[in-house]
Amino acid sequence: MENTTQTEEIKNEIAASLGNRACCNLSMISALIRTRGVIHLSQQKSIVLRCSDTVIDFVEKMAELYGLDCQFTLAKKALQCSLMGDILPLLIDSGIVVESVSQQLSLREGINEFLIVEDCCKQAYLQGVFLSCGAYSKNGRFISFWFHGQKMCEDVARLLECYGLNAKQAKRVEGREEPVYVLSLYGMQNMVDLLLHLQATNFALHLQEDVIRNEVIALSHRATNCDLANTNKNVLYCESTVLACNAVLQSDLFADLDETLKNTMQYRIDNPNDTLSQLAQIIGVSKSCVKHRLQRIINLAKTKS
Ligand SMILES: [Zn+2]
Repeated sequence: MENTTQTEEIKNEIAASLGNRACCNLSMISALIRTRGVIHLSQQKSIVLRCSDTVIDFVEKMAELYGLDCQFTLAKKALQCSLMGDILPLLIDSGIVVESVSQQLSLREGINEFLIVEDCCKQAYLQGVFLSCGAYSKNGRFISFWFHGQKMCEDVARLLECYGLNAKQAKRVEGREEPVYVLSLYGMQNMVDLLLHLQATNFALHLQEDVIRNEVIALSHRATNCDLANTNKNVLYCESTVLACNAVLQSDLFADLDETLKNTMQYRIDNPNDTLSQLAQIIGVSKSCVKHRLQRIINLAKTKS
């Protein structure tokens, strides 16, 4: 499930970062058409593009550049853009239509390699893909891309691999007329890396802060649990040694004990909650000495119980 607000946040940040390089603009428009475009090559030539608000300016600019009419309509709650006119030059420049040696035109599936030779264009392509079909998940655990064609899904997976990011591919059929191909990138650090490549820097920083905050919280929980375990152990030890001292005190063994042991027992009974270190300080001996004496008392108590 998608978190639409956060997806929008990422898209707005990407849109604000878009540059004006001609090479990158072709990568971007190619990504938009390839992921959410339908191409009509019959009499009324057009490209119908489902797009988000964030790319309106960009699409209009490209339409103007290629002398195309550009109309925006709302269809099924989604913004749809129709580019009409001589669409072939744009399709050829963006590598979607390829011309063979015999001048035969054909549609090309997936990403045309020449569009992503330069690093700037690779990034622009990925930005176009996210603007078109990227989603930040509701639980914040993954970022996914939805495609209508398998080839596009595979090609974008390869594009992500260029950045050292391994995304999972899955085909979803249930409840749909046509299958969709989903690419999902898991792991906080991977998501942060992807967002940085997409130029969604602020969102990436927030996520990075969350990662760090979660680590700190987990660490402090572990430390508290450890402290708690030590405290419990200490309480148990105090109780058992006090019990042992009382048992020996009331037994016939007491009279025959040496003075140091008798003193230690008395101190323990008088200070039932003190740690070994605190007892050692009161008695004026080492901690290990107190421990040894208390152990002797516990052993004596055992012979009596
Ligand atoms: Zn470029």
